Amino acid sequence: MLNSTGVPDKDQVVSRFFDEKILSSYKAIIECYEDIPCNPCATSCPVSAITIAPDIHAQPVVDPSVCTGCSICVTSCPGLAIMLATVKKDKARFKIPYEMNESFEKGTEVHAINRSGEIIGVAKVLNVSNYPHQLKTRLITVEVDASLLHDFITIRGIQHG
Ligand code: SF4
Ligand code: SF4
Repeated sequence: MLNSTGVPDKDQVVSRFFDEKILSSYKAIIECYEDIPCNPCATSCPVSAITIAPDIHAQPVVDPSVCTGCSICVTSCPGLAIMLATVKKDKARFKIPYEMNESFEKGTEVHAINRSGEIIGVAKVLNVSNYPHQLKTRLITVEVDASLLHDFITIRGIQHG
């Protein structure tokens, strides 16, 4: 599916997530499905929670018992392939990288979008962070229904009127 459409199938996506007990706190979810020579995620992690081995072409693997959910790797990845996720009761929260010009206000509702670019529900914007060292990449915290845990990937503004 990834090779023909560029969109990972559900099994591929689920394989990159952790179970809900582990996701009781924010953990890095890395959707880097290609064997490419890249490693800023691993070199930027302050606690060495990401392993790329045996060489730089290997896909990154997160040790969730070490990951603190600090989000440094999210804004360090040039491919926007990392987000943080956590689940509490019926809500899932994500911290996603965002480089589009569209701006979002804390507290507003936006479209929740899946990996095919389709609207799948509503997401509430909880926070928007800008980083001086990453001028183009904002970190946006959103909340969606927990049923969207493996489908949600990004947000889009709701056009009114
Ligand atoms: S969120 Fe922080 S601790 Fe976790 S893998 Fe990324 S950089 Fe490392
Ligand atoms: S920095 Fe991003 S693109 Fe590069 S290996 Fe890590 S997850 Fe993949």
